[in-house]
Amino acid sequence: MSRILERLVIRGESADQIITEETAATIHADEDPNFIHHKEYTKMVQGVQFKGFTPKDGVMNFSVPSVGTPGTYYDVRVQLMNYDTFKDYFELNRTQRARKILNGDVRVFCPCLSFLYWGYQYINSRKQTSIRNEPRYPDVRNPKLLGSVCKHLSAVLRVLPFYASDLAKELPEKPSEKAIKNTGVAAGKSPKLPNG
Ligand SMILES: [Zn+2]
Repeated sequence: MSRILERLVIRGESADQIITEETAATIHADEDPNFIHHKEYTKMVQGVQFKGFTPKDGVMNFSVPSVGTPGTYYDVRVQLMNYDTFKDYFELNRTQRARKILNGDVRVFCPCLSFLYWGYQYINSRKQTSIRNEPRYPDVRNPKLLGSVCKHLSAVLRVLPFYASDLAKELPEKPSEKAIKNTGVAAGKSPKLPNG
């Protein structure tokens, strides 16, 4: 069982009321190496590719090849929840901001069948870390709620910190003329102070 959900159950709290904060590292740490040969199969995932960034919702898109079906690729998504907070934090350079964003809270999604049918999408929905909500409890395939993500997401979360330079290219170097005019912020200074 996911450590977070386990704690919720021990405390007898309704998980529906709980909002947790989870980073790529904590979700990765919650993976169960033995459940459906997770560790063994994750090692077989090769060739994660960064496909682009969507600033509107702070989502990094990756293409991950299927292990069992050659020629099939999954559009794995990681939503960076701190993107809005840190993208304009000009006291840090672009790479520093990118690292802070990548180390912050995330939400995840993989369109593979495993993510849905083995209960991972449900587990992440309960933890508020799923991009798409899945309310159906996996009572047949994963009633103990083992693990946290499918092998494709596992592969992406493991390498996420290495994409700081790719994300940095998406961040503004300095405040726009419009932002300076509207907020009065001096170039090189942050228009706001984020938490953390
Ligand atoms: Zn997957």
